[in-house]
Amino acid sequence: MRFKKYLTKNPSETKKLGKSLAQKILESSPKKGAFVLGLEGDLGGGKTTFLQGFAKGLGIKQKILSPTFIIMRKFLISNSKFLNFYHIDCYRIKKPREILNLGFKEIITDPQNVVAIEWANRIRKILSQGRLLISFELVDKNTRKIKIWKRKKNV
Ligand code: ADP
Ligand code: MG
Repeated sequence: MRFKKYLTKNPSETKKLGKSLAQKILESSPKKGAFVLGLEGDLGGGKTTFLQGFAKGLGIKQKILSPTFIIMRKFLISNSKFLNFYHIDCYRIKKPREILNLGFKEIITDPQNVVAIEWANRIRKILSQGRLLISFELVDKNTRKIKIWKRKKNV
């Protein structure tokens, strides 16, 4: 599999990377199923920070928080062929079934949705449709290694 590797030196560089990815996705046309991004890697690696920039790139004004107790949040995307952005955090999920109970299958099959899933590895069994996988590694206090993998299928 191909991947692109980035080193970011502070949170705003990570946000910028997320923002530019979102802008590229908005330019693409909806395909079969939702546009699903899986985010994996260390706690504090920058997944939520990346998604703050990503949401901004989708034109979303609300703040993206680390959803400590909430597993899923939905945001509206305006002026685009995509309609909804779902931010899902599987950190607290023990069994993939918990996410299925939240209507997950319907969400990932709708081509008008963009879905970003933190700790996607925890639901790998039920997640077959990811288009992009993004991994986050801590290098030092303010440096993060971010890799973006493209899935051949569905791209
Ligand atoms: P995760 O969602 O992966 O657990 P967060 O985005 O919530 O991670 O937290 C990342 C933390 O690391 C934040 O406190 C952020 O300020 C800090 N940080 C320092 N350097 C970076 C960087 N280059 N990119 C992203 N976050 C960084
Ligand atoms: Mg997080």
